[in-house]
Amino acid sequence: MLQWIRNWREKSIVKNNPIDERDWQQVVAQLPLLRGLSDTELSELRRLAILFIHEKDFVGIQGQVLTGNMALLIALQACLPILYLGIDWYRGWSSVIVYPAAFKASRTEVDQYGIAHEVEHDLLGEAWTQGGVILAWDDTAQAGVIDGHNLVIHEFVHKLDMLNGAADGFFPLPADISVKDWTETFSRAYEDLTGRVQRGERTPIDRYAATNAAEFVAVTSEVFFELPTLLKAEYPDVFRLYTEFYRQNPAQRLA
Ligand SMILES: [Zn+2]
Repeated sequence: MLQWIRNWREKSIVKNNPIDERDWQQVVAQLPLLRGLSDTELSELRRLAILFIHEKDFVGIQGQVLTGNMALLIALQACLPILYLGIDWYRGWSSVIVYPAAFKASRTEVDQYGIAHEVEHDLLGEAWTQGGVILAWDDTAQAGVIDGHNLVIHEFVHKLDMLNGAADGFFPLPADISVKDWTETFSRAYEDLTGRVQRGERTPIDRYAATNAAEFVAVTSEVFFELPTLLKAEYPDVFRLYTEFYRQNPAQRLA
């Protein structure tokens, strides 16, 4: 789409779908991870949230009712990582499906003898390469607790990762970030964490990050936005690359 048509379209969506001021204040107050954002950043976040809510279909499953404020709570967290990247980073898919709580997902897993088994897992969230995002509402609503865990950021970071194919921990990088720097830095940090987990050490960063490269970027991005100084202390180069990729520094604003 031509840039000017897109700008015009976005402007008219934002103008025609204003967020009620009281709803805005109420939902922002529920999200301590937004503390320290400047007025300019908050108004950009508001603009992105309007576009996000307009473009995505929010669907409650298993009787989950979704109010406008619940959609806004999800949208504000989803749009924080793309505050300086733009709504276009969430292009190509539309569903945000919300379950009341952890949901069962069936998978086919092939064992060491080559036999496929149907297994069921309890999941809090999922992001699909060819589709949308699934969230458990009870965990989504925990966003008021700053503990380095943020389900919404986790799942939407998977969507950013999937923009250039399968989730593999490698985002589409802008020209000013060196692919070599990114690959070496993340490989080193991932190896360090998996080593610590294998040795049975306690790790300040959730050991789920040691599952694979995709989970490593999803989990460490949660920490970047919620407990930035922890990530800075544990993996300073990962922290530095996130400030360059997300083009923001939560350690400065949350200090
Ligand atoms: Zn994940």
